[in-house]
This record gives sequence, C-alpha cells and structure tokens, in this order.
Amino acid sequence: MNRLLSPNRIMKDTRPWDEEFCISDNCIGCGVCESVCQFSNIKIQNNKPAFLHYCQRCMACIQYCPQKAIGLKGKPLSVCGEMAGDPLAAAILVGLGIRSLSMSEPNIPRVKYALSGISAAKAAEMAEKARKLRTEAEIRKLAATLAV
Ligand code: SF4
Ligand code: SF4
Repeated sequence: MNRLLSPNRIMKDTRPWDEEFCISDNCIGCGVCESVCQFSNIKIQNNKPAFLHYCQRCMACIQYCPQKAIGLKGKPLSVCGEMAGDPLAAAILVGLGIRSLSMSEPNIPRVKYALSGISAAKAAEMAEKARKLRTEAEIRKLAATLAV
C-alpha cells in the first residue's frame, strides 16, 4: 500500500508527510503550490517550493501544480483499497491528480465505466467542490450529481 496514504503510517510513523515530496526540474517557481496550500506549509525559496512540515496530505499542491512537478521520492503516487474501487470516490481521486488506482478485480469494470464518462477537467472541478464540503454524505451527493 502506498505509504503516503497508509493508515498504518498514520498510527506508527510521525515523520512529516512532506519529507516524501520531491520537486522535479519542471518546476518554474510559479508559486501556485504556495498559494493553494491551505496549511501554509509551502514557501517559495530560491524559486523552488520549500515544505515546512505542517503538511496535512490534502494534495492540493500536487493537483494544481501547472507543471506536475511535485511527486513522491522514488515512488509513483497511487491509492489502493476500498476507496480506489468506489466509482464515485475514484472520480474524485482522479480529480485530485491521482493517476494510479489499485482495487480488487470485481471493481475494475465499474470504476473503468465511471472514469470513461468523465473528463479530467470535470473530475478536477468535482474534486475542487468536494474539498470545500465537510461530510462524506455531502461529497457523495455532489459526485453523484456531477458524474455522468
Ligand atoms: S506550483 Fe509547481 S511549478 Fe509552481 S512553484 Fe510549485 S512546484 Fe514549482
Ligand atoms: S499536500 Fe496539501 S498540506 Fe501538504 S504541502 Fe501540499 S497543499 Fe500543503
């Protein structure tokens, strides 16, 4: 399971989440990541983002970086488990910038069908709206409304 999102990591590992982030040479120092981080965890220094160790894993910086320059050191960013196999949740995960989902075999056709009916732009729009909601029920209602 991806260590960034693993519940085991939440329980056992207290290292700052952002220690696993890396910035590729594609970074142009635009500052979008700094402006979208609601936890004031990013400061642009010497034209590159520096992480201040208050990361809450919201993934906004990864989602909104126009250069897709933020990643995880030596690891692909992926989500595994029940959430990845839930068609509505999968659409929101794609909207958040996740491009690798791992799920049990029976869920693959349902998720494939759901994702084939939604553009990346629409998924991103849905993720942005979901980010402002407070409960799972609200997010599910939104996803059901926007998904094709
Ligand atoms: S948003 Fe992306 S390109 Fe812009 S400063 Fe941050 S990492 Fe670099
Ligand atoms: S994942 Fe969220 S909290 Fe962490 S640095 Fe990026 S925008 Fe900030």
